[in-house]
Amino acid sequence: MKVDVLTLFPAMFAGPLDESIIKRARAAGLLELRIHNLRDYAHDRHKTVDDRPFGGGPGMLLKPEPIFEAVETLARENTRVVLLSPAGRQFNQAIARELAAQEDLMLVTGHYEGFDERIRQELADDELSIGDYVLTNGALPAMVVIDTVARLLPGVLGDDQSAHDESFSAGLLEYPQYTRPAEFRGMKVPEVLLSGNHAEIARWRAEQSRTVTKQRRPDLL
Ligand code: SAM
Repeated sequence: MKVDVLTLFPAMFAGPLDESIIKRARAAGLLELRIHNLRDYAHDRHKTVDDRPFGGGPGMLLKPEPIFEAVETLARENTRVVLLSPAGRQFNQAIARELAAQEDLMLVTGHYEGFDERIRQELADDELSIGDYVLTNGALPAMVVIDTVARLLPGVLGDDQSAHDESFSAGLLEYPQYTRPAEFRGMKVPEVLLSGNHAEIARWRAEQSRTVTKQRRPDLL
């Protein structure tokens, strides 16, 4: 999968996407990530990418010209252009699966007060929010989307089953998990998990999944 990111802060992407599973996915060519500096598409002396909002009000807005030029230069025929914005539909595991089926994705990240509305109207195929709160810019939201989508790509996780057997994949939260030791400070691992009876274990896990979801996220049921 190819992912292009348009940002004013390319350096923010260096750490998180150069570690662990995502690093290996990139090295294996499963994820091709290209980070583009929006200022490279501004052509005046000061590389201006923002301006004051018409009608007044605080802050600055991202201007249409650099973003239109960047998207039109970088997008391929089937690129899905996604704007990161608090006003977008809320990102979740189902949307991550949708995006993982895409060959080309472009994430357009904002800053300041956000985007000139014409960018949303004309360029965006989709608009995503990572939650009901406001960050200073779209780099972290873009990294959240990239990380979530990348681990769903075939071959990225050591065991592809991991992505099917976890919270939200079947609509529920995950069941409780334990590892060695079987008893720690008087707290014992449930007997059934030590039994070796796979059918019983599967039944227990399904039941626990429903119970945990009902207690903590009844909205998912
Ligand atoms: N004025 C905007 C509003 O009230 O909706 C907020 C702009 S925010 C300070 C700057 C940029 O950060 C946004 O354009 C967006 O790219 C990104 N951003 C902030 N919060 C976000 C969220 N919850 N989800 C996705 N992107 C977000």
